[in-house]
Amino acid sequence: MPVRNRSDVASRRETVLRYAIAVAAVALAFTARFVLASILKDQAPYLFFLPPVLLAAGVGGFGPGILATGLSIPLVFFFIANYGTVGWTEVANGAVFVLIGVGTAWIGKRLRQARILALTREAHLQSIIDIVPEATIVIDGRGIIQSFSATAERMFGYTAAEAIGNNVTLLMPSPYREEHDGYIERYRDTGEPRVIGTGRVVAAQRKDGSTFPIELAVGEIWPAGQRFFTGFIRDLTERQETEARLQELRSELAHVSRLTEMGGMASAIAHELNQPLAAIANYLKGSRRLLDGSADERLVILRDAIDSAADQALRAGQIIRHMRDFIGRGGSERQIQSIAKLVEEASALALVGAKDQGIHVTFDFDPRVDLVLADKVQVQQVLVNLIRNAIEAMEESSERNLTVRTTPADDMMIVVQVDDTGSGISEEMAARLFQPFATTKPRGMGVGLSISRTIVEAHGGQIEAGPRAGGGTTFRFTLPAVTKEESSDAHR
Ligand code: ADP
Repeated sequence: MPVRNRSDVASRRETVLRYAIAVAAVALAFTARFVLASILKDQAPYLFFLPPVLLAAGVGGFGPGILATGLSIPLVFFFIANYGTVGWTEVANGAVFVLIGVGTAWIGKRLRQARILALTREAHLQSIIDIVPEATIVIDGRGIIQSFSATAERMFGYTAAEAIGNNVTLLMPSPYREEHDGYIERYRDTGEPRVIGTGRVVAAQRKDGSTFPIELAVGEIWPAGQRFFTGFIRDLTERQETEARLQELRSELAHVSRLTEMGGMASAIAHELNQPLAAIANYLKGSRRLLDGSADERLVILRDAIDSAADQALRAGQIIRHMRDFIGRGGSERQIQSIAKLVEEASALALVGAKDQGIHVTFDFDPRVDLVLADKVQVQQVLVNLIRNAIEAMEESSERNLTVRTTPADDMMIVVQVDDTGSGISEEMAARLFQPFATTKPRGMGVGLSISRTIVEAHGGQIEAGPRAGGGTTFRFTLPAVTKEESSDAHR
């Protein structure tokens, strides 16, 4: 048995309905004529059957029109035969009626085709309007809303029923609200467009009274000599929010970057000073021992002075140790984060200004792992460092591919890998890569990687670099992963 889909069933039903209307209209006409038969006798027998033919042809098209005509003929002759005589005149009248019926049915068919075409076009247009991300609003020449798309409903908070019939100023904050009628008038008088044909960024107002930025483009149409304007509206809120967030992140990172750079330098200085301080303390202790047992009064004073100097050297060492501990901890704030989100945000920042260098970025996030326990800003600092280094290393390369990949690792860790197709790391540099102040760049500080290592290790991870198969460099670092269960425990 053939399987019929819903639209088949619907169209069959429609056909049956069209023919049923024809039959019903003729039956109604016959009943009315029958009731009045004693008064009308055989007068104007066709008159009652013309409306059913017109109705059937107009609503149902050709087939129902012909059916109504065909059904009417014997019924008309029923009255003529019952109340008068059937002669050639009646036959000729009948023939004319049939001709009129066929003609009407044909016109009905054309009307129906035009109607179907118009409906199809409208449905087509509607499907486009529903799918475009822009809201679409049509207003007439006086600014009255004629149509209001589903996207417009969502954007402005009015339903189409609420919006249609109102002046479009409903959707504008002051002072546009008061001025808009004037704009339309001025355009009508001068023909000088302000928004028509070009896009403009303006403010709009939602039903709840809040204003939001939109990009507005207006087109003008003149169907049947009447003026209409179609507005396409894009909500800019999200774009502006994204830009603001990016700006915020950029300044946040710049701040942290300066802080961590200072921290890195302090840490490096502490490291460098620790040894000489320990040596001073040892020399002083040795000297102190040499002075032991001497009874010379001046030497006793000298001994006390050396004791104090050794104490101070130890104290300086302690201060430095405290400083290193403090930097090591770095006041970090660890939270459960999505590594994919961290990477995307950090990359957006690191790539600012790198677009015109033709760098091709690929992200490859393993769906099995995503959540990490990390200090967001610090980990982003690491990512920005690695990505900026990669971009700088690719300056001379013809192929500029940057890939950031996440993969699961043993011991509940996530590996984040940054690959570039750059110059690669020289052997001489490779040995000192993570040491402070090691750089090959004329304006480089050489602290980026040393800070990155401090941050990664403070998170319980490791960082390493190596050559990439096929040229360039691969940096990999690990972070502790958090499972979905742990994260929901943490949120409970
Ligand atoms: P800086 O970028 O200020 O020099 P870093 O500590 O970030 O400091 O990097 C140290 C050095 O490591 C760089 O000067 C560069 O020689 C080398 N380097 C880092 N990343 C890469 C890379 N992706 N490709 C090639 N060399 C790199």
